Amino acid sequence: MNTYDAVVIGGGPAGMTAALYLLRAGVKVLMIEKMAPGGQVLMTEEIENYPGFPEPLKGYELADKLAAHLDLYPHDKIMDEVREIRVGNPVHEIEVGDQVVGAKSIVLATGARYRNLGIPGEQRLVGRGVSYCALCDGNFFRDRTVAVVGGGNSALEEALYLARLVKKLYLIHRRDDFRGALCYQDKCFTNDKIEILRSTVVDEIVGAEDVESLALSNTKTGEKSSLEVDGVFIFVGFEPVVNFVPGEVEMESNGIVTDVEMRTNVPGIFAAGDIRAKLCRQVATAVGDGATAATSAFAYLEQLSE
Ligand SMILES: Cc1cc2nc3c(=O)[nH]c(=O)nc-3n(C[C@H](O)[C@H](O)[C@H](O)COP(=O)(O)OP(=O)(O)OC[C@H]3O[C@@H](n4cnc5c(N)ncnc54)[C@H](O)[C@@H]3O)c2cc1C
Repeated sequence: MNTYDAVVIGGGPAGMTAALYLLRAGVKVLMIEKMAPGGQVLMTEEIENYPGFPEPLKGYELADKLAAHLDLYPHDKIMDEVREIRVGNPVHEIEVGDQVVGAKSIVLATGARYRNLGIPGEQRLVGRGVSYCALCDGNFFRDRTVAVVGGGNSALEEALYLARLVKKLYLIHRRDDFRGALCYQDKCFTNDKIEILRSTVVDEIVGAEDVESLALSNTKTGEKSSLEVDGVFIFVGFEPVVNFVPGEVEMESNGIVTDVEMRTNVPGIFAAGDIRAKLCRQVATAVGDGATAATSAFAYLEQLSE
């Protein structure tokens, strides 16, 4: 078994930052990423709030820059999915693809993924009008009618992106007030193509082959209605990607519990970015978590070798 001082799992902003800091400290690092480096940033059209970039930054540009920066420091990489971690002392075992690697320290940075609505029609029509990524699928709906479901930053940002492509967009939110940033709310509320449906939930996504309409209910009046759309984009929150995380690691419903140094309750296992139980899931906080986790992992490795 090949054993590393540090294994970083997940090549989003948190994982890439953790790996960068560890490598610069002279640690032998393995980076594991199941898809392409970048994480959710690759699904983001533009990032307007990453400090130091006053001009909106394309998501793929930031992903490329992070990967290029990391590649300045030679390290091992595995492009495959981690399936299991077995807690050891002091070496943990990681099952990735068809191999097992050892790790004296691990940074968990597998981020978060979209939550489903869990309503009839949703799973059956994924890829046939149901989408969770405007950047990936928006182009299929050029000059057509779509709905966006959700009221947070992602829903508002994605609605604004889609509004540039589509003929008409319904923004459906179960509450009266939106949680997303005021600057996005203002842009959505004044966009001619966007019609807001407040206090409204989607009960069913209807369509034989492709999405044809949505069955809606008004949460205040109970009134039922049907809305004809060609597509529906769902942005109703995230859940941390923790399916491979061992039961010994303490978790809450919204992520892994860490202290301020990004240490989990298991010695040698750290967590950074959207996978953590935390309030603000952004690139800026993911990068900060990654730097802190790397610094803690480095201190832990120093202690081990004493
Ligand atoms: C549509 C959208 C718009 C956004 N807009 C902004 C914005 O404008 N500004 C901003 O600051 N933030 C924005 N965000 C949030 C930001 O992208 C995330 O907070 C940030 O990417 C989190 O970084 P992370 O490294 O923790 O996780 P992620 O970016 O989720 O990266 C996790 C990585 O882990 C990999 N992975 C998962 N499971 C495994 C496994 N088992 N084995 C190996 N690899 C695995 C994934 O493939 C992924 O590459 C947006 C997010 C979305 C979805």
